[in-house]
Amino acid sequence: MWWFQSPKIAFGEDALEVLKDLEGKKAFIVTDNTIRSLGYVDIVSNYLKEAGMDVGVFDGVESEPSTENVMEGAKLVRESAPDWIIGLGGGSCMDAAKVMWVLYERPDIKLEDVSPLVELGLRKKARLICIPTTSGTGSEASWAAVITDKKELFKMELASRELYPDLSIVDPKLPVGVPKKVAADTGIDALVTAVETYVNQWRNDFSDALAIKGAQLFFKYFLRAYENENDKEAREKIHNASTIAGLAFSNSQVGVAHAMGHSFGAVFKIPHGRATAVFLPYSIEFGVKEAGERYAEIAKAIGIEAESVEAAVKKLVDAIRDLMEKIGEPLTVKEMGIKWEDYRQKLDELVAKAEMSTCNFVNPRVASSEELKKLFTYAFDGRTIDF
Ligand SMILES: [Zn+2]
Repeated sequence: MWWFQSPKIAFGEDALEVLKDLEGKKAFIVTDNTIRSLGYVDIVSNYLKEAGMDVGVFDGVESEPSTENVMEGAKLVRESAPDWIIGLGGGSCMDAAKVMWVLYERPDIKLEDVSPLVELGLRKKARLICIPTTSGTGSEASWAAVITDKKELFKMELASRELYPDLSIVDPKLPVGVPKKVAADTGIDALVTAVETYVNQWRNDFSDALAIKGAQLFFKYFLRAYENENDKEAREKIHNASTIAGLAFSNSQVGVAHAMGHSFGAVFKIPHGRATAVFLPYSIEFGVKEAGERYAEIAKAIGIEAESVEAAVKKLVDAIRDLMEKIGEPLTVKEMGIKWEDYRQKLDELVAKAEMSTCNFVNPRVASSEELKKLFTYAFDGRTIDF
């Protein structure tokens, strides 16, 4: 038996207005400084006040939040005692809101103990709303939250069926004013997610449908949205695609590019989307032995014509690299300015951390530590995977 789970999702023009009808006494917004300066905290607060609620705010979420950062926020949540917690921002803000909510409901629990196997008993004090202001992470549709352990340079992948938001608001007017680099780094995550969800071992008919649609929307609209944020149609399609990919992945899993990306991102402090995307083409070349047909199906769905499975997969990899190049995403680790000597010294650590990630266990071809080492090495200067 398997479950399909989703938050209630308000999407499309003026979706934010659902906040006016929210029932409750007190809301607490978890966000960062940039989102506040863009005026989004005021917009959301005003709707909540219209609904008769008091509003508290924590605007100190760090990019790729650390355990200390969420503990600090959770303290304020406890003092405020809200009945709604609202994650407003990119993946960092939404993930931080999820974890602060857990710590508010269950101050007794250790974060490393949060897993799908543990009953948390959330929603006794508050419920959760996620409002993405960038397109890409899909955290608004997922059961996961990633927090950085700064001491160990390690990404904790927390997951629980209880962590799905009660409501997600996917309003296309929000992803405006995002710097281009951030839009690329964040947006590309939706593509990595859609591709990995479609091929991993936990894939199912429900996640397949969403992953394919996510990939199609991404290839059709991402460049348009990236090049011109005033292209409302493209912006809305990409905002939806991101949530769709998030929903696909949290009802299935991702794969080895995410396992490597989490490890690499934590050790070298690289933003999640960039850290993950750089490994995607290599992971496809690596996974083709086990999932060639599946990758070819993605290729077909985005309009690639080819005479054989091998040719389709090759064209898919080329199309991904071409798109990444157009949006300034590095295709090799070297392009990120990392020196081979520094990278080589960290190789064992990178491998050990990637090996611990669930995302590798469910990859169509599970990478051994030796294979992970080769994958990391080949991705350094862009060698084609030949093993
Ligand atoms: Zn991701």
